[in-house]
Amino acid sequence: METRVHNFNPGPAALPLPVLKTVQAELLNFQGTGMSILEISHRSSAFIKVVDDTVAKVKRLMKLPENMHVIFLQGGASLQFAMVPMNLLKAGEYADYINTGTWSTNAIKEAKILTPNIRVIASSEDREFRYIPKDIRLNADAAYVYLTSNNTIKGTQWSSFPNTGGIPLVADMSSDILSRPFDPAPFGLIFAGAQKNLGPAGVTLVIVRKDMLERIPATLPKIFSYKTHVDQNSSYNTPPCFAIYVVQLFLKWLEEEVGGVEPMARVNDQKAALLYGLMDRTDFYRPTADKDSRSKMNVTFRLRTEDLEKKFLAEAKAAGLEGLPGHRSVGGCRASIYNAVPMESVKALADFMEKFARANG
Ligand SMILES: *Cc1c(COP(=O)(O)O)cnc(C)c1O
Repeated sequence: METRVHNFNPGPAALPLPVLKTVQAELLNFQGTGMSILEISHRSSAFIKVVDDTVAKVKRLMKLPENMHVIFLQGGASLQFAMVPMNLLKAGEYADYINTGTWSTNAIKEAKILTPNIRVIASSEDREFRYIPKDIRLNADAAYVYLTSNNTIKGTQWSSFPNTGGIPLVADMSSDILSRPFDPAPFGLIFAGAQKNLGPAGVTLVIVRKDMLERIPATLPKIFSYKTHVDQNSSYNTPPCFAIYVVQLFLKWLEEEVGGVEPMARVNDQKAALLYGLMDRTDFYRPTADKDSRSKMNVTFRLRTEDLEKKFLAEAKAAGLEGLPGHRSVGGCRASIYNAVPMESVKALADFMEKFARANG
């Protein structure tokens, strides 16, 4: 216990301590089966219960309407960059994308391999993705409008979603799923790799609205079709059993110990306000995102010089604050303060930042 650090890793990321303890306690004998969850069939009633309960928890926590399916897939969020256009775009149709950073850039590239009918209707690339675009010109003929709700690398986040007037929204919510409440009704599809805000690596949560399934081309190989996985309750082939089980425990923690998404959002607001507030009071730390576009999950910032950043990161690590370097493509610093990162870790970081600024200011 004494050896655990304050974990600000961007992903895979911190998990709640009670979740890890339950995994540890149940590992040798999963719920009286005499076997670990790693050793039982995905067709066993014990595991089917895990899937059903995890689906039910997602539906409850996110207040999903009846017409939304919840499935668990492999291949990471990155597979969804390809699966979304493969499933939702019929021949001759167009899809509109909003480019707010590295992950949406990758999603656009993947979709363009399949069809030239991918339109980028808004982008913040002109200023290194430091902001969320405001003027979005929608096309009435778009099959869907794609966005990334939180930009893990650039540290920006949509504070509210654009009104698409009935065109289904498709969102990559890998780094802010279940961090705040929102109305799921306008979304045709939501996906999230679990390893940031939901659990371990190896499983991707996909929420897909019933009417979207009618769009799927008959020529699509079965393994790529959302309908296959909906019809087979995420067990068309062997699912990532262990990862789904950890997601179940994570959601149980969120529901029973945190109290749900609203209380989670209040804590997340406080955590982000502590760090941004501290940075706004001086110019020692410089947040990289525009004020109105700041992410409450990934707090990205620079210091005066790269040498000072190196010193900051080295001393932070020595003080038990892990995972603070920015993404290798952008440098600088990034504190990922996802759901599972407790307020006490953020307070420890804030204290360290105050002291470091006083000593080096
Ligand atoms: C991490 C991340 C991804 C990539 O996830 P993989 O599971 O590694 O494919 C995609 N989108 C966002 C927003 C992310 O944060």
